[in-house]
Amino acid sequence: MKKPHISIVVPMYNESEVAETCYQRLKAVMEQYQEEFRHELIFVNDGSMDDTLSIIKALAKEDDCLRVINFARNFGHQIAVTAGIHRATGDAVVVIDADMQDPPELIPDMVAQWKEGYHVVYGQRQKREGETWFKLATAKGFYRILNKMTEVVIPMDTGDFRLIDRKVVDVFKNMPERSRFIRGMVSWIGFKQKALLYERKERFAGESKYPLHKMLKLAADGILAFSGKPVEWIRNSGLVITGISKMMFFIWLILLLLGDASLLFYNGWHSVLGILIGIQLLAMGILGEYLLRVYDEVRNRPLYIIDEEIPARKARTGPRDWEQKTFGKIDMEAD
Ligand code: UDP
Ligand code: MG
Repeated sequence: MKKPHISIVVPMYNESEVAETCYQRLKAVMEQYQEEFRHELIFVNDGSMDDTLSIIKALAKEDDCLRVINFARNFGHQIAVTAGIHRATGDAVVVIDADMQDPPELIPDMVAQWKEGYHVVYGQRQKREGETWFKLATAKGFYRILNKMTEVVIPMDTGDFRLIDRKVVDVFKNMPERSRFIRGMVSWIGFKQKALLYERKERFAGESKYPLHKMLKLAADGILAFSGKPVEWIRNSGLVITGISKMMFFIWLILLLLGDASLLFYNGWHSVLGILIGIQLLAMGILGEYLLRVYDEVRNRPLYIIDEEIPARKARTGPRDWEQKTFGKIDMEAD
């Protein structure tokens, strides 16, 4: 039987401290299993401002299995992973972070499960070491809220560390949405999925590249892209508030008929009014978030801009199928 080909996608943003060790650890695992599968490594430099690019370019000079994609600027983790998956040529693709919090030694186990017939093998964190209580609490809360709110079942405590089969990759390539929550997208695609429990380690060097605002954006992308619940809440609170106001109106009418409507004009009205205005603004904000995402989609800009690709991509005569769908307009205009 032909040896399977595995692509490993690694997004990198200011990872000069970890890039080389990451390469060596991945390479050590890949070489240990070279009898079982061939590999390619795809390092996506997501607009790093440090030496990450020069480090990985130097490594790529020495190793034909290492491909480098350099973005024109920082597009974010999820987009960097997307670009890597788009460019991967393997029969299966593994996504892993550069900081080795997720052990590359688990990849052969993932491959083994894949050979058993699973299309997605995702790492599920049993334990997380060395992360702040704030990160742990927010991550835990987020997965629980997300699952209550969405129709797609997104497994608890999973990140993007996973193996995905070519079949899933091909569907993924046809999903051009801009706000990307990859673990949700992969769950949505379906096929046979399997969890692999592991312990998430501490980052071995450098700092987290996920500050609070990036975490919040990812959380918002996850919820808004996979759930219409916030709109339901607005509708329901609208119904409740309308009901209450109608009741108040009738009470006021009865009091007026009885000759004393003054009772309802007490000072508390100011705060009630404040709350109602607050609810209205919140509702508008939530709708605005959906609208902004729609706006983002209709502008139909490319998902990412590649400055350089090593080795250079072979010249093509026409766009591939998924590219036609993703960037269809642009390619058609160029023809
Ligand atoms: N990353 C990226 N672009 C970004 C932020 C992060 O490519 O804008 C990469 C980063 O280099 C790492 C992975 O995404 O390989 C996960 O980031 P990090 O380890 O900082 O996140 P955490 O583990 O703290 O959630
Ligand atoms: Mg990390």
